[in-house]
Formats: sequence, C-alpha cells, structure tokens
Amino acid sequence: MKNFTYYRPTTVEQAVALLDNKWGPVELLAGGTDLHDLQKEYIAQPDKVVSLNGIRGLSGIKASGSAITIGANTKLADIAENSAVRKHLPGLAEAASQVGGPQIRNMGTLGGNLCQRNRCWYFRDEHVPCLLRGGEKCLAINGENRYHACFTDSYACVMVHPSTLAPVLIALAAKATVQGPKGKREIELSRFFQAPAKADEREHVLAANEIVLSVSIPIGSKNASYEVRHKQSYDWPLVQAAAAFDLKGGKASNVRIVLGHVAPVPLLAGDAAKALEGQPVNEETAAEAGKAAIKGAKPLSQTGYKLQLVQVAVKRAILTAAGAKKYWQV
Ligand SMILES: Cc1cc2nc3c(=O)[nH]c(=O)nc-3n(C[C@H](O)[C@H](O)[C@H](O)COP(=O)(O)OP(=O)(O)OC[C@H]3O[C@@H](n4cnc5c(N)ncnc54)[C@H](O)[C@@H]3O)c2cc1C
Repeated sequence: MKNFTYYRPTTVEQAVALLDNKWGPVELLAGGTDLHDLQKEYIAQPDKVVSLNGIRGLSGIKASGSAITIGANTKLADIAENSAVRKHLPGLAEAASQVGGPQIRNMGTLGGNLCQRNRCWYFRDEHVPCLLRGGEKCLAINGENRYHACFTDSYACVMVHPSTLAPVLIALAAKATVQGPKGKREIELSRFFQAPAKADEREHVLAANEIVLSVSIPIGSKNASYEVRHKQSYDWPLVQAAAAFDLKGGKASNVRIVLGHVAPVPLLAGDAAKALEGQPVNEETAAEAGKAAIKGAKPLSQTGYKLQLVQVAVKRAILTAAGAKKYWQV
C-alpha cells in the first residue's frame, strides 16, 4: 500500500476542506471495507485519507410519519436490524442483511455502499489496462465477462454496479443529501449513479469534494428485494430485483421496479413497471412483469444466463412485496 497521511476531522466542513476537486489524491474513509482493499491492490493510491468516523451526527436512523432518514455513516448491520426499517422498508432491510458477511455489515456503511467501486476483475487488477484506469477499451466486452452486464447498449464499460442497497433505494424514491464547498444539495437516488467511461469518472455523480450526509426514504409503499446468488455469503448477487408499489383493492399503482447487477448502473425497468401498473398482483401478472423486464437486454458472450434470472427475480420481488406466500422457500 502506498503511504498516505491520515486525517480525522470532527466536522463535515473540515472534511470537505480537506478534499480535492479531482478524483485520486484524496479519498474519504468510512468503514474501509472497500477503500482499503483498493489501496492494497494499488488501484486507489491517495496521498490523503480523510476519515468520516470522528464526525458526530453522520450516523443514526430517524423515523418520521412519512420518511426514514439514515445517516451516511450508519453501519449496514444497524440498517438491517432497525425495527422501523424492517417494518416500513423490508426491501432495504433484506438487502442490507444480505451484504457480504457479518464483518462487512458491521464495518460497511450506507455511504460507502453507495460510493463503492465496481468489482470487475479487470478494473481490480493493477497490471491490466482497464478503461476506467486509463486503458483504451473495456477488456470485459470481449473477455471473461460472466459476472458482467446483460444490458450493454451504449455502455463503454460493461461492469455491473455493485451496490445491492441502490436498486431498493431507487425503487423507494429515496433522496441523498450531500455537502460540498458550496453547501448542501439533494440528489434523487435515481440520478445518483452513472456509467463511468474514463479514469476521472466514478460510478456516481458526486464531485470529488462532496460528501454524502444522509439518505431519506419515503415510507408507505409495499416493497421488497430479491437476489439470485451463487453463494449464500461473502459474494455479490448475480442478479437482483427491487420492487415498490402501492396496493389498493388488490391492484398495484405507482410501480417502480429496479434491476441490480445487470448493467453499470442500477436499471429502472420501465416496461416491467408498466406491465404491473393497475393490475392485480398475482403469479401471472408478476411473471408478465418479469418477461417485460428483459426487453432491451443485449447480453455479452457469457451473460445470457442472466435473462432467466432477471425474470425470476422480478416475479419473486413483486410477490414478496405484496405479501404472497414464498412458494420457492421450503
Ligand atoms: C466479500 C464482500 C462481499 C460483499 N457483498 C456485497 C453485496 O452483496 N452487496 C453490496 O452492496 N455490497 C457488498 N460488498 C461491498 C460492501 O457493501 C462495501 O464494501 C461497503 O458497503 C463499503 O462501505 P464502507 O463504509 O466500508 O466504505 P469505504 O471502504 O470506507 O469507502 C468506499 C468508498 O465510498 C466512499 N465513501 C464512503 N463514505 C462516503 C460518504 N459518506 N460520502 C462520499 N463518499 C463516501 C469512499 O471514499 C470510498 O471511495 C461486499 C464486500 C465484500 C468485501
């Protein structure tokens, strides 16, 4: 690991002042479960590391009548176990409880989860000229790509976005509050992520000198997240679907379905939402939404298998959100 200077500010303003206006020379540190890995692999080589852990008020979960607000430095384990989150946002509790293993969830934070770097093996290998580290092209497009995107249209890099909290938060219409040198601003989570195409871009739209303070999530919708995983722990899903909708008289409205691990950004599945909108929620309509979710997919040489998984994940997320019996669990 390259030597760095460690800072532990006690206010957000001090932390912002320590940041740089371009990515690279300075990194924020929350739980360190991703950043330290990147440093050990020489993928991140900051001169300064600015810890968020001395700043009061950046962690904690507050519930009001209409929303739950979660501080960016809140641990994933606390999100998974919080009673208000489990009651009103079961999709988020489920996603947080599935991340990594107990050690990752007890160190990893909400802010770090949303801002973590992608897991593409070409990106994470310092010896490989990945597009996102200055290389000429994305090596996964014609390379080893079985864990990569199946929605590939127009993306220069075909990694998949690694956060499993992100699809749920987008489905729930959450907003992040961030702070930079000019003060605070709000970003809808549906606009928070971007597909990076070069070395000075990240998987999100934050400027290098902005910090996520909290995420606010409206409550009241039926919601769920369903992940298809290769292993039960210490891994990322192959595919994930998050669903949120209102259910009145048995019919779904305000439907939002978001796919994870199928594209470089969490993907709003508009056709799937349209297929369910105004329909009674049952196995047939959920399956129809699943079919609609794969419209527009363009798998790589090794990701065609994800299309079946997407259909299953969407169907099961919808049925779970509606409170249906989980017939797939024995
Ligand atoms: C084995 C393993 C399995 C995993 N499985 C999953 C999984 O299934 N699903 C999933 O979603 N994740 C998974 N993860 C990733 C894990 O969720 C992240 O490593 C963790 O959430 C990062 O949080 P952190 O607080 O440790 O972030 P750090 O490592 O401290 O930081 C990560 C990045 O976020 C930035 N950052 C941190 N906080 C803020 C902030 N408040 N504002 C702006 N930038 C910030 C940092 O500068 C850094 O670039 C897994 C990780 C491992 C090692």
